[in-house]
Amino acid sequence: MNVITSIIDLQKTIRRLKNNQKMIGFVPTMGYLHEGHRALLKRARKETDIVVLSIFVNPLQFGANEDLDQYPRDFDRDHKIAETEGVDILFYPSVEEMYPNELSVSIKVTKRTDVLCGMNRPGHFDGVATVLTKLFHLVQPDQAYFGKKDAQQVAVVDGLVKDFNFPLEIISVDTVREEDGLAKSSRNVYLTEQERLEAPILYKSLKMGLEMVQSGETSPERIISSIENIIHTETTGEIDYVSLLSYPELEELETVKGNYIIALAVKFSKARLIDNIIETRE
Ligand code: AMP
Repeated sequence: MNVITSIIDLQKTIRRLKNNQKMIGFVPTMGYLHEGHRALLKRARKETDIVVLSIFVNPLQFGANEDLDQYPRDFDRDHKIAETEGVDILFYPSVEEMYPNELSVSIKVTKRTDVLCGMNRPGHFDGVATVLTKLFHLVQPDQAYFGKKDAQQVAVVDGLVKDFNFPLEIISVDTVREEDGLAKSSRNVYLTEQERLEAPILYKSLKMGLEMVQSGETSPERIISSIENIIHTETTGEIDYVSLLSYPELEELETVKGNYIIALAVKFSKARLIDNIIETRE
């Protein structure tokens, strides 16, 4: 595995691989790798010639009061996991390498961001779109892999790729979960013992919402309030949002129909967890 920290070295390596007609699969992450990231890497390993993993905790996508400094990091462990998953290139740049100067051009995401996480994280998706624009230019992937756990991110990246004609395909991968249903997340380590016991309720409440749809309920409000009710009564978490929207447009629905997402974010004492279910109702 080739660990690259400099942009120039990455560009030279990618140019050589492109000249040799290699198909490049790219998995962008913020590190502290877990089974969810591994699923993306496995998929890329299976489908492409060269797997590029980036580990970069992108300051641009963190708000002033968010957990940038506390975000968990463990490069040695990540390095071992990357090797086990057959990664060819691990791109691990510093903040100075990625952002040597204040940017003179900014990317502003104008659709699909005034709902869900975008609502309470102003600028978050602008930061995501900016770093991915840089990374897509550097890595020039044929396929880029993203987790459905961050469904709004997939929707925003889908818009970015289409609007700016990046010659790549976005592959979205199912959420990997703990045995009790909790979506794997780097932030789960910040749950207290009690909160860890409560956390699977989030997915359970989403599944209950799905069951309501399957048994004929068509009112988003009623589904949302049932989910909120479960979270209120069975956890100590504070609800950030519970929403039911069209997917991937992320628009309000009067009745549940077509492709839809039920998504939630809940704040525990030191970790804000998100989860969702994406489904279709004919
Ligand atoms: P992160 O390091 O949290 O920015 O995540 C990097 C990528 O891994 C994103 O595309 C995430 O959606 C994806 N990911 C994170 N957690 C999971 C999970 N539990 N299952 C599948 N993909 C995930």
